[in-house]
Order: sequence, then structure tokens, then C-alpha cells
Amino acid sequence: MNIVLLGAPGAGKGTQAAKLVEEEGLCHISTGDILRAAVKNQTPLGVKAKSYMDAGDLVPDDLIIDLMKERIQQPDTEKGVILDGFPRTTTQAVALDTMLSELGRPLDAALLIDVDPEVIVNRLCSRRMCKECGHIGTAADAACPKCGGEMYQRDDDNETTVRNRLDVYEKSTSPLIDYYRGCELLVTIDGDRDPQVVYTDVKEALKL
Ligand code: ADP
Ligand code: ZN
Repeated sequence: MNIVLLGAPGAGKGTQAAKLVEEEGLCHISTGDILRAAVKNQTPLGVKAKSYMDAGDLVPDDLIIDLMKERIQQPDTEKGVILDGFPRTTTQAVALDTMLSELGRPLDAALLIDVDPEVIVNRLCSRRMCKECGHIGTAADAACPKCGGEMYQRDDDNETTVRNRLDVYEKSTSPLIDYYRGCELLVTIDGDRDPQVVYTDVKEALKL
């Protein structure tokens, strides 16, 4: 099963993807996670991507498309992938269609996790991540509830950058909702509820 997760930054894509990985064994590909690792390790990609990410702007399509072409051919993707943070532009969506048809693996669904922008500003500004295991928590977590690791705030989870990320989402990424509706792959889920309740709907939508 191959799935695209759509939704604004902070809608809960990563949280839902983590549950799908845990329960269904799907391979989670998050371009944001890959880029953050590249920035941390100062790879050529990371060096190019950093300034865009810090500003909350999109990293150029050609860099992302090259990255994904390589990633989607790794052996761990054969049973299916959950794409989180990709595609983010129509150009990327068209490139993904080509990649998947070359591999003979059609897309099964584009799952839109729908959340109001004001809810998102609050969520992201209080979001914290575990340094050890990547668990997504909140400012209320003194330590990681999963592994006890240290929690930190992402560089781009500050109000100025969050507002820009939401503008970029509206302008560049939300047109993909119509794109996937046109392919009859779109499924919309109300993301402004408890993550476990959202997940129940996700599973139902994917017939899992
Ligand atoms: P968010 O919480 O905003 O969904 P991500 O972790 O998915 O964050 O991405 C963080 C940043 O990485 C984005 O703001 C953007 O700069 C860059 N990025 C991630 N995926 C893409 C993509 N598909 N195209 C362009 N830039 C991307
Ligand atoms: Zn942890």
C-alpha cells in the first residue's frame, strides 16, 4: 500500500505515520526528517537546504525530487510507503506519479489530515521532539515519555517561521488537494481531535 499524507505543517502527519509504521509495518518516508538529518550531518544537500528550512520556505523542487528518486528505490519500500511531507508542490506530485509508475507501484490514497490554521500555530509553538527517538511531544513533557530522552524544540517551530510555513502551505501545497481529488484518491479526515481517534478514522479510510 502506497499512501501520500497531505495536510498543513503540524496537522499530525508524523504522528499518524508513526502509528501506521508501528501497526502496519509500512515504510515511513519523511522528507523533513531526511533534510534535518542532512543539515545535522552537514552533507551537500543539508548545506543547500538549511537556509530555506530556517525561513520556513520550500527547498527547491529539483533537490527534493532527486532525493526522493533515490529514496523510493531502496529495498525497504517494497511493501509500501507512507510519504510524509512529499509531494509539496504540483511539480513534485507529477514527478512522484512518474517515479511510481516506473516502479509499477500505484498510489492507493492521498490522506488529507485537515486542521484549522490557528489550531496549528498553537500546536507547533508548543511542539517538542525527542533527541533520542524522534517522538513528538509537547512543552508539557519534561522528558520523552517513550524513552526518557531529552526533548528539544525544532528551529522552525517559532511563531514567525510557523506563519510563513502556513502561507507556503496555502500557496504551494494546498493545490494538491484538488490534484488528488481529480485522481479520485483523496480522503479527508478531521485532524482536530485526539490522535488515537484520528488514527481510527485513518485505518477505516485505508480499510485496514
Ligand atoms: P512540517 O512540520 O512543516 O510539515 P517538515 O518536517 O515536513 O515540516 O519539513 C520541514 C522543512 O523541510 C519545510 O519547511 C521545508 O523547508 C523542507 N521540506 C520538507 N519537505 C519538503 C518538500 N517536499 N519540498 C520542499 N521542501 C521541503
Ligand atoms: Zn524518546
